[in-house]
Amino acid sequence: MSSDDEPALMSSPIKTTAALLEPIADYETSTLVETMVNDTLEITTICPDVEHGKFIIESGLNEIPSSVCGTPTYQHRSLPRIKILGTGGTIASKGSNSSQTAGYHVDLTIQELLDSIPDISRVCELEYEQLCNVDSKDLNEEMLFKIYKGVTQSLQSFDGIVITHGTDTLSETAFFIESCVDTGELPIVFVGSMRPSTSVSADGPMNLYQAILIAANSKSRGRGILVSLNDQISAGYYITKTNANSLDSFNVRQGYLGNFVNNEVHYYYPPVKPQGCHKFKLKLSPQASTLNLPSVCILYGHQAIPPEIVDMVADHYDGLVIATMGAGSLPKNVNEKLLSLKIPVIYSKRSMDGMVPTANLPKTQDGSSTSLIASGYLNPEKSRILLQLCLAGSYCLEEIRRVFRGVYGG
Ligand code: ASP
Repeated sequence: MSSDDEPALMSSPIKTTAALLEPIADYETSTLVETMVNDTLEITTICPDVEHGKFIIESGLNEIPSSVCGTPTYQHRSLPRIKILGTGGTIASKGSNSSQTAGYHVDLTIQELLDSIPDISRVCELEYEQLCNVDSKDLNEEMLFKIYKGVTQSLQSFDGIVITHGTDTLSETAFFIESCVDTGELPIVFVGSMRPSTSVSADGPMNLYQAILIAANSKSRGRGILVSLNDQISAGYYITKTNANSLDSFNVRQGYLGNFVNNEVHYYYPPVKPQGCHKFKLKLSPQASTLNLPSVCILYGHQAIPPEIVDMVADHYDGLVIATMGAGSLPKNVNEKLLSLKIPVIYSKRSMDGMVPTANLPKTQDGSSTSLIASGYLNPEKSRILLQLCLAGSYCLEEIRRVFRGVYGG
């Protein structure tokens, strides 16, 4: 599907209990299939929802001990309902042979991806939607809006949401969703892969399988945005791509929340959400088809960075982020340029870990206030999103400073 196509709600081809019970001729009405397996009566109801082109598999009976007159009785257990939103990335990519792990392209629908994972019909009901199908470097505000809409529209009717996404910018979308959506208790799990679907030992199917099981697990509730990659569960707010090639690419300093072994979700801690995460309420018109956030660009500090670069970009943006060297260091002539700007400038850092403290911001000679703000622990790409959201909310400089400082002590 091209990114321009309308999102489609499609039927799940996953290997359900129903798919194993053939033939089922009549899809016009709900079909009840009864089977005896190891003295246990299994009932599978197939309810075709023609209007939305989806099949809901209601299966799973919790057997309760036979008690009344020796007759077995059964109690219906409704399975968690999980929504899968497909956006593309390496997890949805194909190469030309099984040893290719670079230079591949996005070519797999969410439906095909779901085909590649083991049967989970006993664990949850699945519904899925292809929002776009792109490499995450191409994700723009229109697609981000689709993801935002896909998530907010699913919050009420599902027990968990899984979003397949390219790993390159997964942290940005995860940070955006964590900042803009009141997820309540609902688990929202982002998942990607480092190898294309065609490669030997492709990691996508296992990561996706685990993401669905994480989303369907009640222990995942109340933890905000989660990420499933390489058997690890991490916080979407803190995640950063730390390795351009390795399967263990989201190896963040803030640590993993849990891991995944043999179909089991293990959390190290009770549910907790990121410290002081500032929540924004987006005001979008019902006709909106994109986000239209204020424009913020990122400059990258380096030895002998020319101060003129600041003049070249400042007039074209509503705000700037600069990846400083160390914990806020920039040459004096660049600091002077930035100090003279009236737009907010976030001092972030090139280093993967650590923070930029307010104490390291350059000051004017007369001590007058400036529009420079320290990013604290936020890296440049997350700082950019946070500043865009602050500007979209018409926050004044002091409020923006408080948002950054409040979250990270920056
Ligand atoms: N280029 C890919 C993407 O971000 C990388 C990946 O998914 O691992 O879409």
